Amino acid sequence: MDFILRHANLPDGRSNIDIGILGDRIVALEQGLAATGATEMDALGRLVSPPFVDAHFHLDAALSLGLPRINRSGTLLEGISLWSELKPQLTTDAVIKRALAYCDMAVAQGLLAIRSHVDVCDDRLLAVEALLEVKRKVASYLDLQLVAFPQDGLFRSPNAEHSRHIETLAAETYRLGLQGRVAGSHLTSMHSMDNYYVSKLLPLIAEAEIAAIANPLINITLQGRHDSYPKRRGLTRVPELIAAGVTVAFGHDCVMDPWYSFGSADMLEVAHVGLHIAQMTSREALQSCYDAVTVRPARILGLEHYGIEPGCYADLVLLQASDPFEAIRLKATRLLVMRRGKIVAQTSEKWTALNVPGRPERVELNFVPGSIQ
Ligand SMILES: [Zn+2]
Repeated sequence: MDFILRHANLPDGRSNIDIGILGDRIVALEQGLAATGATEMDALGRLVSPPFVDAHFHLDAALSLGLPRINRSGTLLEGISLWSELKPQLTTDAVIKRALAYCDMAVAQGLLAIRSHVDVCDDRLLAVEALLEVKRKVASYLDLQLVAFPQDGLFRSPNAEHSRHIETLAAETYRLGLQGRVAGSHLTSMHSMDNYYVSKLLPLIAEAEIAAIANPLINITLQGRHDSYPKRRGLTRVPELIAAGVTVAFGHDCVMDPWYSFGSADMLEVAHVGLHIAQMTSREALQSCYDAVTVRPARILGLEHYGIEPGCYADLVLLQASDPFEAIRLKATRLLVMRRGKIVAQTSEKWTALNVPGRPERVELNFVPGSIQ
């Protein structure tokens, strides 16, 4: 075998697993694998995960923060008008360079598949051309899917508070036989809808097999701005959608752009914020939040041979954490990122040299629950 990663914990709870890799595929997955690898590495009981996947992002705007000026109010509306100011000034070269810089960050964070919405409200289609070039450039190390996105809207609604687009989308999906091929993003209005209406809407979405993508970082910061108290959170009804059988993912949406000044291609941060807003703190719900940035968006993107199983692509991330709970808690360091059997990123372990009397010289933030009694 080309590579064996020994003593790995997997996201589903299996532990002490050896992962054998030949060429671009995982070919063996068992405890105490007898084979030897040309290269071997010991995961030391740490978590080995399939790569993170972002099902909702805007790569044409990423890393443009401050161009042509900062969003002073921090609101959605100023963000949209800022983007309109920036659009005529965009150059293909700069969009490509910023997008590639973001993809570098993504690889470092073990984020190896991104679906980007590309603004098509521009007669030049400059962002489309630029991101098609980026898609070609990154193809060997990152799956980039591009979706046409009319930022300025095809149909304008005079009052977004009464938005019922998801019902229309579900009905049309069903009518056209597109079940399993449609995703609805944000769905923030569902947060504020009448509960009885939602009780009818959820089964309709599930029946149309529409996936839902919530964007916790952006939804919590941009929604409910006109509210006094109590202030709505603006995140769609994530646990209820999941309970109804809908495939729900968390997306990053924005990083350092006119709408959102933060972010670092870290899907664990996205899961961390998502579980706080949606109060998904049961053990089952925590696992579900991890799935919302890995297997579920992979399903939405239709990624083939994704997962830590024999026959899957050797695409994986070794984290400085023992399980998904600790990975989310620490937004754990990605020690190693592999794509198609090749190591594409490595980060040193994170620890701190401590200089206090009578205490260890080295401290890590990892902690085994119950280890001090
Ligand atoms: Zn978006």
